[in-house]
Amino acid sequence: MSYNKKTVRDIDFSSPKRVLLRCDFNVPIENGEVTDDTRITASIPTIRYILEHGGSAVLCSHLGRPKGKVNPEFSLAPVAKVLSKLLGFDVPLATDVVGVSANALAVALKPGKAILLENLRFHAQEEANDPEFSKRLADLADVYVNDAFGAAHRAHASTAGVAAYLPAYCGLLIEKELAAIGGALTDPKRPFTAILGGSKVSDKLGVIENLVKIADNLLIGGGMAYTFIKAQGGSIGKSLLDADKLDYVAELLKNDANGKIHLPTDTVITAELKAGAATRTVPSGEIPDDEMGADIGAQTAAAYADIIANSGTVIWNGPMGVFEIEDFANGTKTVANAMAATQGFTIVGGGDSLAAVNKYGLAEKMNHNATGGGATLEFLEGKVLPGIACLLDR
Ligand code: AMP
Repeated sequence: MSYNKKTVRDIDFSSPKRVLLRCDFNVPIENGEVTDDTRITASIPTIRYILEHGGSAVLCSHLGRPKGKVNPEFSLAPVAKVLSKLLGFDVPLATDVVGVSANALAVALKPGKAILLENLRFHAQEEANDPEFSKRLADLADVYVNDAFGAAHRAHASTAGVAAYLPAYCGLLIEKELAAIGGALTDPKRPFTAILGGSKVSDKLGVIENLVKIADNLLIGGGMAYTFIKAQGGSIGKSLLDADKLDYVAELLKNDANGKIHLPTDTVITAELKAGAATRTVPSGEIPDDEMGADIGAQTAAAYADIIANSGTVIWNGPMGVFEIEDFANGTKTVANAMAATQGFTIVGGGDSLAAVNKYGLAEKMNHNATGGGATLEFLEGKVLPGIACLLDR
């Protein structure tokens, strides 16, 4: 899959264009009010770009899981209210997605203005990627722009199907994801270091498999490290173990002729995963039977920080320990601080790593904070993302 896609900046706005813009407005709503508008705010630059260039925008998104049925609980009405406030003019909400109301609003749409369609998932055809539904969506506009990175790993009508009927571009959010993560995967400034942590090897298998081919260093931490340590013959006590991945991991280590894979040399252990529990640091393969590893040790954290400081590109996915409990947060904190300080290009690959850098107030010090969740993981796995693959190549 090429990551070099045409963007909203490539659209010729010399004649007025109606743009079908797929956004990610899947926001939390309580009592009819949006309680966190981060995703709506993030979409504003792409919307403004279109409007300021004389285009008009037919905005669409899914919200929650209404399972193919109209359900007022999942209406985008609260989102229309926030959009109207942020854009400074009334953004009318169609009462349907591809019906009479949507058509009437789209036909009457003036350059510089925007409308919002109702929740795409009110129609089962959306998730089924139904060609007829895609065509009816396409009929509302002249060009298609996808800016919903978080849904780009789904082949739905609004994320992929519609591109069969309209010239398809990415918005500014997806453009940024492609430049950062696509750039790292295809032409990273070296040394390229990937830091992988979190609870399970099995959740990250695809990422490990892809990054071990591309990266110069793979720093392993978190609960997943103990499966590696056990595969090397170490004692891991009650630490997390993916028993059925032991052979796979042993093979990975056997094939690591260049020593790319780095494992924790020391580990903070405890008998109980709770705040204030007694802890001590031991060599990683010497964990007593009744204790477990809960964080990488200080020696490992310092060694990882040193590699990060000397890297040209760093991607991080998954905490180094049970960082939610302060006693086991040192490894995660040290990695976050080292990333904030390095001259290399830094990418925080979402999920708990993003929660950690936000907690430590370091998000702004990173070059890119990936917000795509499942889409980011599939991107790092090197998989084809239907919502990206369908866009015009440069
Ligand atoms: P994931 O969702 O796979 O990225 O895993 C994140 C979770 O892994 C966090 O909630 C951490 O508390 C947990 N975790 C990290 N290190 C360990 C560990 N050594 N033992 C148990 N859980 C861990």
